[in-house]
Amino acid sequence: MQRTTLASYLHAILDCLCTEAAVIVQGTSAGQVALPPELATRLAAGQERVAALLKNKRTWLLRNYAAEVQPVAAELAAALQQYWQLPVQRAAAELDLATAASARSCAYLRCANLGAEGGPAAGEGVGSQRCSACRAVWYCGTACSHADWRQGGHRTTCKALTVARRGKKASAAQP
Ligand SMILES: [Zn+2]
Ligand SMILES: [Zn+2]
Repeated sequence: MQRTTLASYLHAILDCLCTEAAVIVQGTSAGQVALPPELATRLAAGQERVAALLKNKRTWLLRNYAAEVQPVAAELAAALQQYWQLPVQRAAAELDLATAASARSCAYLRCANLGAEGGPAAGEGVGSQRCSACRAVWYCGTACSHADWRQGGHRTTCKALTVARRGKKASAAQP
């Protein structure tokens, strides 16, 4: 294969990686994609580095493949692979569950306090507490809010709920 053809292929592959990462990064900053912060940073950094490489001539890419291009491209590819392997289905199901829980007077699903007064349904009853981060879920008290954070999975769904809530607000604000 001619070197120029090879260089074009290399350029196309890098361009593809870069575009894919850019779409995810944009979706993340717009609140449409919830990512572990570490992965979001990795994707954004990788995308920037590959975009910088793409400013070079195609033949330069080929000439400097081993030293400059391959490590950067491999890192971005690894980050993308991690993104594709994310349990998106599981995250969506968790968010559904958490959204359903936000309608309960106590969002901790194992709450034994069945007569709990807290929450929107009970008109913000005595001792009720709202998660101050997402402001989407209510608890009958401190014990349940701590338990839900530590064992109930709110630690992971809190952020997704915050993002979902912001998204709802934003779309409601649009005419
Ligand atoms: Zn409770
Ligand atoms: Zn929360």
